[in-house]
Amino acid sequence: MPLRDELRHEVPYGAPQLDVPVQLNVNENPYGPSAETARDIADAVHAVATSLNRYPDREATVLRTALADYLGHGLGPDRVWAANGSNEVMQQILQAFGGPGRTALSFAPTYSMYPEYARNTHTRWVSGRRDDDFGIDVGAALDLIADEQPDVVVLTSPNNPTGTALDPAHARDVLEAAPGVVVVDEAYAEFRRAGTPTALELLDEFPRLLVTRTMSKAFALAGGRLGYVAGHAAMIDALRIVRLPYHLSAVTQAAATAALAHADELLARVDDLRRGRDELAARLTAGGFTVAESDANFVLFGRFDDRHAVWQGLLDRGVLIRETGPDGWLRVSVGTPTEMDAFHRALEEVTQR
Ligand code: PMP
Repeated sequence: MPLRDELRHEVPYGAPQLDVPVQLNVNENPYGPSAETARDIADAVHAVATSLNRYPDREATVLRTALADYLGHGLGPDRVWAANGSNEVMQQILQAFGGPGRTALSFAPTYSMYPEYARNTHTRWVSGRRDDDFGIDVGAALDLIADEQPDVVVLTSPNNPTGTALDPAHARDVLEAAPGVVVVDEAYAEFRRAGTPTALELLDEFPRLLVTRTMSKAFALAGGRLGYVAGHAAMIDALRIVRLPYHLSAVTQAAATAALAHADELLARVDDLRRGRDELAARLTAGGFTVAESDANFVLFGRFDDRHAVWQGLLDRGVLIRETGPDGWLRVSVGTPTEMDAFHRALEEVTQR
């Protein structure tokens, strides 16, 4: 098969999709939309169903306006772009600003899809290291940026799989030093703890900053596939060059716009999940585990001599978490109180703690 050389022996990315009772492995929101929100989404989809013979609004203006309103910070639709998940947004960013002869850089451990976006867009990928607390060692980061002169730097805040938020002073240092685009991936921003700022605050000051978000987590819309990015209008315009025509279906646009109208209800659930995250971290700490500080809807904990055995033991008890991140650590998403009880019970059995 005449497959591209760099794709030979590669396997498709993805966590196991197993049908088990307690699924805490992909940082989904455990609460589906309420009956009222679901009805409004269905009504909105029904309203566009009769005109599905027509292509959708290529510019997704209604949705981008709603996203800009939600983000605030003085943003308008010309400064927000949307695509099928923040995965697609990030791929478009590398299509526009990466590419052959260009370099993208991030700091591991971080989201494992980034190198794949780089591979798919023929962008050279460079990975720096995070420090022992999973924060960015800003001195080492600035040295690496000076050496590599990356076209794109990706910072993740809160970071996946560690939950670590970006120190705003470090964000500023990187933005001042980076010669190209800086992307702050804020997929989990709504779960951040009080006092943790968002990089949206830096947008007016740094025109080459892009801040990506998603409706997959806080908005309980992982199945709807809607990610978005905020930036300078000229940067957003550049993304429009590489997008496929009509990339965002009329159904997606309608469903996401309807869900956004219920932001208050969905964000109230986020408050529950933030409390659940803090309880989860406290209980794991009390159980003698090492727990990475988290501003997200998941917690990285350990350390295990044989993490696979612990992961398997939990799965055998109907609890699916994620074997990811540095060796010896496991990641668990925040679920409902009932799911959390099942997780803790299974963990106690497996680890005898
Ligand atoms: N960024 C980070 C850091 C993530 O963890 C994820 C999903 N796990 C994504 C982006 C992609 O999310 P989506 O495509 O569903 O918006």
